[in-house]
Amino acid sequence: MSNTEEGKGQNVKVVLRCRPMTPSEAAKEKQALRCLNEKTVEVSYASLGKASKKAFMFDGVYDQSSSQKDVFEHVVKPVVDEVLQGYNCTVFAYGQTGTGKTYTMEGEVNNCGSVMPPGAGVVPRAVAHVFKYLEENDFEYQVRISVVELYNEELSDLIASTDDHCTGQLRKLRLMEDPKKGVVLQGVEERAVKSAADIFSILEGTNKQRHTAETLCNKQSSRSHQIFTLKIFMKEKTLDEEEVIKTGQLNLVDLAGSECVGRSGALGDRKKEAGQINQSLLTLGRVITALVEHQPHVPYRESKLTRLLQDSLGGKTKTLIIATVSPTSGNIEETLGTLDYACRAK
Ligand code: ADP
Ligand code: MG
Repeated sequence: MSNTEEGKGQNVKVVLRCRPMTPSEAAKEKQALRCLNEKTVEVSYASLGKASKKAFMFDGVYDQSSSQKDVFEHVVKPVVDEVLQGYNCTVFAYGQTGTGKTYTMEGEVNNCGSVMPPGAGVVPRAVAHVFKYLEENDFEYQVRISVVELYNEELSDLIASTDDHCTGQLRKLRLMEDPKKGVVLQGVEERAVKSAADIFSILEGTNKQRHTAETLCNKQSSRSHQIFTLKIFMKEKTLDEEEVIKTGQLNLVDLAGSECVGRSGALGDRKKEAGQINQSLLTLGRVITALVEHQPHVPYRESKLTRLLQDSLGGKTKTLIIATVSPTSGNIEETLGTLDYACRAK
């Protein structure tokens, strides 16, 4: 963690969020994680039978008392504001299954009205913030969304699949190289939306679709990545009345459970079966490390996830990783794995 604030360029930020203990955990487990201050956590664990402690630093630490609103206002909103200035940005939730990735991204409610419920996560809050900005300003705009799932390195279109009235089959998508546009997701449905409410109703449909497909195909939901993308086209006038089109893109990604990647991206760990290793999760870690360390080669091409998001990772884009962990001693191995991964991204 020798990186200074300048060294990171502030283009990649990593924050940690620790969920509360459940009542049954609180009854039988110890708290293994302690927030020392706004940026540091300390983990207690046993190593070779000896009690050990280790501190980890992040751009922000959100403990069990942090609210959905805190997380959004402090770290996500500034990213959404960049998108409204015409940049491409990505927010990832990374962590072991059961630590609060979906809670953080989606939250307890999908269909939010004009008043944001306290349980609402990053997606509804970001959507509401975008439309509030667009509606308050006096220019023409267009918003399009897509919802894509990546499972076993296979991409599916959740919006297009919703139109199929649920055979449980998802429409597959292919990534193609376009000489002009770069990497394109061929045939992906980018649905034009007029309001936040439009988006909430589409997301209700894609969520249902996902659950049906999971049940019918016996998929493990913890192994899939969910990618929600919002593209915003804004026609603005300059001071001398010239028209300019600004385009911003926001990707909100609920990643596969980090237990799929193994401890410190343990490629050489022969105990892990090849199938358990999630190529996209591994490559994402390497891409972020390469970006943060300004390495000449960034291995975008090594996974579908990083190819898909290539234009939104690196360069002038902003990336936020929200690493989620459990506070209990029982999950300490996975927690240390997440902390290591998240720290490598710093
Ligand atoms: P993941 O998506 O990482 O598998 P979930 O988001 O499904 O995990 O969270 C697992 C459980 O913990 C859910 O019941 C969720 O409501 C709860 N939970 C997670 N994070 C929080 C939090 N910060 N505050 C309250 N409950 C949470
Ligand atoms: Mg989840």
